[in-house]
Amino acid sequence: MSNESTIFEKIIRREIPADIVFEDEKCLAFRDVSPQAPTHVLLIPKKPIASTADLTDEDGPLLSHLWLVIPDLARQLGLNTGYRVVVNCGVDGGQTVPHLHFHILGGRSLGWPPG
Ligand code: 5GP
Repeated sequence: MSNESTIFEKIIRREIPADIVFEDEKCLAFRDVSPQAPTHVLLIPKKPIASTADLTDEDGPLLSHLWLVIPDLARQLGLNTGYRVVVNCGVDGGQTVPHLHFHILGGRSLGWPPG
């Protein structure tokens, strides 16, 4: 894995702009630049974990925190009739940014199965 900062680390450091909708000491949420639904937000840990494949036991409390932020964030975003949380991992999973992120998608009825 490269030592170069990912685009998401640059967003955390405010080196590139993003439409930030939530932040606390452990995580940041911002609107996806290429939305796949009327509401499409990315929730990321500030800790630079590359993917779900790189999680360790010590990340348990952080993961728990992220999952508990999601319903609050969904309410804040007005996703009152449901939403989908997607985490892509690796090449076959379609992951393009090597910094763990949760896609929160809503605002329309979403098809299943995903492509
Ligand atoms: P992945 O394909 O890795 O699961 O998701 C990466 C997501 O990051 C994509 O949905 C893509 O549109 C989004 N993205 C990539 N670069 C930027 C950026 O510079 N700003 C924002 N807000 N989103 C980005």
